[in-house]
Parts: sequence; C-alpha cells; structure tokens
Amino acid sequence: MRSHERTIFGEMSALAARLEAINLGQGFPDTGGPPQVRQVAERAIREGLGDQYPPAHGLPDLRAAISEHQDRFYGLQVDAADAVVVATGASEAIAAAVLALVEPGADVMVLDPYFDLYGAVISLAGARRIAVPLVADTLRPDVAAMSAALTANTRLLLLNSPHNPTGIVFNQAELSDIAEFARANDLLVIADEAYEHLWFDNNRHIPIASLPGMWDRTVTIGSGGKSFSFTGWKVGWATGPAELIAAVRVVRQHLSYVSGGPFQYAMAAGLRLPDVYFDQFREGLAQQRDRLCDGLADLGLRVIAPQGTYFATTDVRPAGFATGAEFCQQLPYEAGVVAIPQSALSDHPEATGPYVRWAFCKQPEVLDEALVRLRRWLG
Ligand SMILES: *Cc1c(COP(=O)(O)O)cnc(C)c1O
Repeated sequence: MRSHERTIFGEMSALAARLEAINLGQGFPDTGGPPQVRQVAERAIREGLGDQYPPAHGLPDLRAAISEHQDRFYGLQVDAADAVVVATGASEAIAAAVLALVEPGADVMVLDPYFDLYGAVISLAGARRIAVPLVADTLRPDVAAMSAALTANTRLLLLNSPHNPTGIVFNQAELSDIAEFARANDLLVIADEAYEHLWFDNNRHIPIASLPGMWDRTVTIGSGGKSFSFTGWKVGWATGPAELIAAVRVVRQHLSYVSGGPFQYAMAAGLRLPDVYFDQFREGLAQQRDRLCDGLADLGLRVIAPQGTYFATTDVRPAGFATGAEFCQQLPYEAGVVAIPQSALSDHPEATGPYVRWAFCKQPEVLDEALVRLRRWLG
C-alpha cells in the first residue's frame, strides 16, 4: 500500500488550511443538507433509536427506502431483503464490492482520470489496475480504447458516472456501448453512482444496471453524503442481483460491521423526499457551476462544461501554463486558492496533464472571492 500513502486531497486541504487559501480542491458542500433530514437524525439520537448496532446489512426501513428510490427514479425493481446492503459511505460499499468480486491477480479496468480510492482498493484486493484514458479534449469515454486495453485477466469494470473528477455524465449511447462491451467480454461492473442526483440541464443520469442484460452483472453504488449534502454522515449503499450482493455483504460485515445508526433513519427520510427537493438541489448546484465556470472562462481558461458532480474541469494551457500540476502548485501561493491537478488522479499524465479540477459546491460569496483572487493573479 506504500504507493497509496498520500492523497492529493489530504495534501491540498492541509496546504489550504496552512495558507488560509480558499479550498476549491476537496469536494464537499459548505452548507448542510435538508433540515427535515437533519431533524430525523436529531430525533433518532434523542430517542435512542440508533444507539446500538443496527442490523448488519442496514436498517430494514433504509433498505426499503433504497429499493423504493431505485424504482421511483429508474424503474429498477430491487428486493430490499436480499438485493441491498448499507455501508459506511459509498467508499466502503466500493471497497467491499471490489474485495468481494475480484480475485488476487485479476485485472480491473477503470477510466482515467479516476477517483483515488479505486486505485487503493484494487491494490487491497491484490488486483491490477488497467486505467483507460478518456478521449483527449472532449473527455468522453472511449470504448475502442477500452477494447484495446482489455486483457484475458480482466474481470471487472469499475465505472463512475456522473464522473469525478471531470464532471462529465455518460449519455445513453455511451452507456449502451459500454454495456455491450461488458456483456461481450463477460465483465462484472461496479457502477459508482455517488453523484446520481447531481446532473444538470438535460444530462439526466442513467444507471447502467437499467440497460438490457446489465442488472445481473452490475453492483450499483449510492451515497447519502452526496445526494443529501451530508458528507460527514457516511451512509452509502450497494444494490444489485442477490448473488453479487450476498458476496458484498460477506466482505462488508467484516470491514466496519455496521455504522451510523441514527443517520440510517435520516437517510431513509431523505430518499423519500418529494421530487421538488431533488429538482431544487440540482438547480442550486447548476447556478454555482455557472458562477464559477463563467468566471474561469472570463480569465481565459478553457472550461469543459460540467454536466454533473461538484466539479468543473479547465484546460490551463490557454492561460500560459504547461501543466495543471504547475498551475496548481503556484495557485495557493500566488492567488490564495486551491484546486486539484487531474494528473494526480491519473496513470496517464500525458493525457490528463493540462487539466485542473475545481469544486463549485461552495457558497456564492466564496466562489466570487476565489474569482477575485484569480483575477488578481492572472490579470
Ligand atoms: C465522494 C465519492 C465517493 C464516496 O462517497 P462517500 O459516501 O462519502 O463514501 C465515491 N465515489 C466518488 C466518485 C466520490 O466522489
């Protein structure tokens, strides 16, 4: 695990704190989630509902709410009894799924750049990572490149859409091509859909598990932290066919055993919020996205418009920088702002080199102040 010792988020957040820089590096909102969800957690704590270990695979009412949610948003029929498992955030659900479904020595395909946790859990499983770059310039998934990179040992495709760090959302045609690739090569899929409710304009999120022939081979991951802006509560889940979820449950119960008793009650309430919550959540984030992206474009950076997530991507070459790493090294000292070079989340710095990731899930005045500081630096 030595190569996973440091995380770019930890380093950059520490630097931001030390320099009192504005941290647009790490992706967490600077406001809390819906008050009615918080009240359920408060009541659960007050009444002692979650004081002791909840059931190993998750509170039955939360499993029911996850099942209702998958049907309501995606038309997926998920059996709350044996097709759902609750975890300590999407992070633990992903770790448990990789450890459950991958044998030592197998190859796991990810699209590059990728969320840094993937590299670590693939290593924990004793497996090998095959990172396939997104198409240069457009940052779209490239099924031809995925086919070319496939090995005889590839068992699993670890997908993420809406995609961190680029902010792209895979469209129907791309998902169909990826699904065909998975079926043709008999791959299992872990679909990290932590940002399922964070998509903008008409870039509606489509779960790959809803495509023909994909339910039986896919474990889908959700995050209460991301969907309800409570990233500190760490409640996530996995859904999928009973045989795969049975395996994920075995591993997961030996990781954290159970977690977040009171928060599981609250997340069940969150998942049952009316559509207006989800619509307003997206609209609010889309406004923050526009605020930051318009400002970055005014500064002369090429912005790849985010279709989802908390993150905007810019190409820093038009502003006169060779690489995002060089830009992000100077940024905290010169401007008092922190952002993340995508090459830090990549095995292919030749492809990701020019790109920088900016988190826009921040208060308007924070984004404005960051833009003022950037303008002072870049002129
Ligand atoms: C934040 C994030 C996660 C982890 O979610 P938690 O619920 O906080 O554990 C997983 N995948 C991606 C892509 C993320 O950005």
